[in-house]
Amino acid sequence: MTASSNTDALHGLLQSVFGFADFRANQEAVCRAAIAGRDLLLVMPTGAGKSLCYQLPAIARGGTALVISPLISLMEDQAAKLTARGLRVGRIHSGLERGAARETCVGYLRGDLQFLFIAPERLRVPGFPEMLAKRQLALVAIDEAHCISQWGHDFRPDYRMLGQYLPGLRGASDAPAPVVALTATATPTVQADIVEQLGMVKPLQFIHGFRRKNLAIEVVELSIPERAGVICRLLADSARRPAIVYATSRKQAESLAEALSHVVPAAAYHAGLDAETRDRVQRAFQAGELEAVVATIAFGMGIDKADIRTVIHAGLPATLEGYYQEIGRAGRDGALSRTYLMHSYADQRTHDFFLNRDYPPVAHLNKVFAALGEEPRPVEELRSASDLGDEEFDKALEKLEIHGGARVDFGGNVTRGAAGWKKGYTTQAQYRAEQFEKVLRFVSSNECRMAELVRHFGDVADASHACGICDICDPAGAVLRQFRRVTTAERATVQSMVDELRPTSYLAAGTLQRRLELSNRDEFDALLDAMVRAGLIEIEEAEFEKDGEVRRYRKVSLTDAGLEVRPATPLPLLVSDGIADAFDAGGRPQRKQKKPKAAARKSANNETPLPPLDSAAEALAERLKHWRAAEAKQRGVPAYMVLHDRTLQAVALARPANPAQLLGIDGIGPAKADRYGEEILKLCGKTSAE
Ligand code: ADP
Ligand code: MG
Repeated sequence: MTASSNTDALHGLLQSVFGFADFRANQEAVCRAAIAGRDLLLVMPTGAGKSLCYQLPAIARGGTALVISPLISLMEDQAAKLTARGLRVGRIHSGLERGAARETCVGYLRGDLQFLFIAPERLRVPGFPEMLAKRQLALVAIDEAHCISQWGHDFRPDYRMLGQYLPGLRGASDAPAPVVALTATATPTVQADIVEQLGMVKPLQFIHGFRRKNLAIEVVELSIPERAGVICRLLADSARRPAIVYATSRKQAESLAEALSHVVPAAAYHAGLDAETRDRVQRAFQAGELEAVVATIAFGMGIDKADIRTVIHAGLPATLEGYYQEIGRAGRDGALSRTYLMHSYADQRTHDFFLNRDYPPVAHLNKVFAALGEEPRPVEELRSASDLGDEEFDKALEKLEIHGGARVDFGGNVTRGAAGWKKGYTTQAQYRAEQFEKVLRFVSSNECRMAELVRHFGDVADASHACGICDICDPAGAVLRQFRRVTTAERATVQSMVDELRPTSYLAAGTLQRRLELSNRDEFDALLDAMVRAGLIEIEEAEFEKDGEVRRYRKVSLTDAGLEVRPATPLPLLVSDGIADAFDAGGRPQRKQKKPKAAARKSANNETPLPPLDSAAEALAERLKHWRAAEAKQRGVPAYMVLHDRTLQAVALARPANPAQLLGIDGIGPAKADRYGEEILKLCGKTSAE
């Protein structure tokens, strides 16, 4: 078949090979471009049907399509589906026996295969790319292409080398195999990076379909200890299952899964479990035996389950791309599904902790770089000679390698790379921090959640429509968040605000608050939020410089609708009022007299007394004191500089199981967690018998 094939022939293949009656939105245009031999980048959300966009063209073009995929589970899943459709498929990855791989190569060389799936690292095996190049490929598909970009959230160093192998793999210069790059999660920056790194030739870019009409997004502020209970109560309702809960750490995944398993068949899934267990969990979830999985980010890439009703984030995600992809696993059958994002101030500190861990100081990289030379030296040798800790050393070396400052060969020997790694590294670390800023802006925003996400992915035209079902568009329909009608007094305040704003183009929020003589900032903010949601005002972040310092403020202005508001205008304004009663843990009536946020934060200081310690906590406190004394002595500082008594007691009470929980404790900031976290957690993990 050629590029001029008519519609019917293509539809014929669609029906006879795949059994689909029709193309989904955008699939046909993409297929035609690929069949015509164009390079293309396809950015469509998970479940949109990207695979067809390389599979159908591959069949139409004839010969073998090479498919590069980052995960064995993904490969196996795709290969099984294609095989079931009667296609001839081979795959080569580390999970298979050597004999099987050899046989697949023979089959490939004979021209028996329509699809060959490989993992990117396979290309580093000497002779393998040459073997592939013996035949002209029909097409090269790169699945999850965002993995190539260091800006992408799943960056894989092995993907980075694809660019250097592609010219050889594409073959004939007059009619090279087209490169089809597919991803669900590329922001405009990542899109540009993919195109450049893969050396795509005049690529067509298709970016479509980020709006999910059946996902109702809810964002709720909830302290870390409250979350497990709320999640259990949410998922006790079978209409909200099956569900995926995303945790921020393995430990959190374990503890949430444990709590949930008393309510529904649930299990944890994370990279710390062995492959067999993970496989079992994935299959049980797929089969409906498990109704909830509590996972870290590692879960879901290979999941193809259409009826997921709920996705919960039990902590702030690191990027909006990751977040979007994860909530995108809900409701693929088109039925209404809800997603909940739980966050609190403590999540920010956790995130800073992880950021510092994942992006070590440049000084660490400098140290490792300085130890490298022209002569290859074994990693272990360098590691033990370094005054960095083992993990610190490995992290620094990994970053150096990614940014070209070190070269590691197959035998584990390292040589010095180029000196220019620093710029790339710091840019990347900064980019990561900015990505998280965007998440923070997302949770604190008062704009339609879906519209914000769509805009984030670069579909500006589509971002002007509000979804109508998120907690911002439809506060009354929110499940976890509770909203109440404004009181008469609040309605009067709103009127005063409107009257103050009417004659001006904008007022600074602080000025407005002062003019109205409102002493409580949180109540004032709650009203502003309610007015934004109702479309009466707009708030814009702005900054000015004073005494050499940049100060930020919020510009408040009336919208057209706001201009119309008179005292007699009926205004069903809804004010955010914590969490709905049904989900509030029993026996916490004090919640009704809602603590304003600032006050809640202040109680992090030393005013409120801590509950008495039980015997286990007492024993832990003793161990902590012991350790603290030794630490203080070693550093030559007073004990309180290591940990305040109060912080020590709080740790003993909370017995944190992971860095996230540790950071949730008052008095433990990123610096303390960095310095002592490991030791404290070790002490907390021991039982008193030890
Ligand atoms: P993506 O890679 O974009 O996440 P997939 O390619 O795995 O999505 O497709 C998701 C699901 O949609 C698969 O079950 C696939 O069989 C189905 N699908 C794809 N295209 C069509 C179509 N034109 N008609 C019906 N189902 C389709
Ligand atoms: Mg896919």
